[in-house]
Amino acid sequence: MESILPLVYLVASVTFIVGMKMLGSPASARRGNLVAAVGMGLAILGTITLYTNANGEHLHNIPWIIGGLTVGTVIGWMMALKVKMTSMPQMVSFFNGMGGACAALISLIEESHHSAQAHGAHTADIGTSLTIMAGLVIGSVSFSGSIIAFGKLAERIGDIDVKGQQLVNILVLAGVVVLSTMYVMGTMTGMQTLVILAVLSLAYGVLFVMPIGGADMPVVISLLNSFTGVAAACGGFLYDNMVMLIGGILVGSAGTILTVVMCKSMNRSLTNVLFGGLMSKKASAGTGGGIGVQGTIREVTASDAAVLMAYAKHVVIVPGYGLAVAQAQHACHQLEHELESKGVTVKYAVHPVAGRMPGHMNVLLAEADVSYDKLVEMEEINPEFPTTDVVLVVGANDVVNPAAKTDPTSPIYGMPILDVDLASYVIVMKRSMKAGYAGIDNELFFRPNTSMLFGDAKASLTALAVQVKAL
Ligand code: NDP
Repeated sequence: MESILPLVYLVASVTFIVGMKMLGSPASARRGNLVAAVGMGLAILGTITLYTNANGEHLHNIPWIIGGLTVGTVIGWMMALKVKMTSMPQMVSFFNGMGGACAALISLIEESHHSAQAHGAHTADIGTSLTIMAGLVIGSVSFSGSIIAFGKLAERIGDIDVKGQQLVNILVLAGVVVLSTMYVMGTMTGMQTLVILAVLSLAYGVLFVMPIGGADMPVVISLLNSFTGVAAACGGFLYDNMVMLIGGILVGSAGTILTVVMCKSMNRSLTNVLFGGLMSKKASAGTGGGIGVQGTIREVTASDAAVLMAYAKHVVIVPGYGLAVAQAQHACHQLEHELESKGVTVKYAVHPVAGRMPGHMNVLLAEADVSYDKLVEMEEINPEFPTTDVVLVVGANDVVNPAAKTDPTSPIYGMPILDVDLASYVIVMKRSMKAGYAGIDNELFFRPNTSMLFGDAKASLTALAVQVKAL
């Protein structure tokens, strides 16, 4: 029977790859997630029922394994059922942290087997030590870093950038590197060494994510994703388990590609994000992020905005985090439908870091069945703004803030934005003049071609759709 196991692993690995490919489009993402989850279930089931070691023994501790699986499944299932769409980013971060913690625990547990074997053989197996060390360090950094990211996304933790922290970070990192090297070389071995290494790595995870905030958070989140993948792949090496290795490598490489894409979207180098804490620091809310914007704002009513949009040729909708807060995706789709029935061309401009997690807007709009071909990426839509009649900004702020281009003191300076200010008319939907995630004022709101439509995005969009229909 055990000869079937590699076949089960192969099928599971194929489902991971196919599932991941399907995640590339909102139209197939849901099914892709399911396909990969079924593959993972198959791999777990196969391991429990079919695995045998070199002596032909099956897995021990089956009741414990089933117990752990049940507890984890129930908690995960309930969390996923209960989570609000706005809390999705922090939940994803939390789950990512759990993956890192698992990988770190695998290393700690395998250390006892490894040292017992090394003792018997009287030689240190450098390859295994290296894998144990890497799984522990990367997994621990990913765990504590993800928990801090969780706190930041839930807005329970602010950006803490203490004077001299860079030095402390470097010292802790140096400690991790020295101890790791000593462990791998066999100069310092045993559980005690690994526990100290785990504590240092956990501390480093906290220290390195703590000062990063504002516009740089998406990069850190993607990086932590890739860390968890690499740490899981280390587990795959340790157990010589093909499916764990492939799963880990897939997550690690996808996370790395996402990190590169996010860095490109933010126009930042990875070193700048990781070591330029001060540059990425979130401005304290209401400070204006250095520019202190002043001027007159214009307000528009839903009926005037409806007239403007219904008689336009091209309308571009810019969704942002406020769309998720208001749960206004269905109302937005309804407005799009009403506008199109009046002959208006409607497109959605999606900024790569809009919302609070990579792909956040795509997930929201897909939920409301917005056609994927209407979603246009930043590079593609920016040249179209000068010929756009009306831009409707729905709960977006940082991703349309011209300070990114004009104010070198701004924490988002250098980040490419959606050039909505180049359109003939801009309508901004939000509840107040409050800042967005980066905590900075937005000069766009004071521009002569901008009008504010204050209120909850869902209520405003619903009112707009009704007014457009009535015209
Ligand atoms: P912002 O956070 O800049 O702005 C969102 C705006 O939505 C706020 O100004 C708020 O204004 C408004 N809003 C909130 N609730 C409602 C509501 N119910 N109805 C109407 N408006 C509402 O969002 P953006 O999407 O423009 O930018 C994303 C930011 O998040 C960037 O700084 C990005 O770096 C960061 N980030 C992104 C991550 C990602 O992976 N995408 C991860 C972590 C951070 P008001 O309160 O006045 O209504």
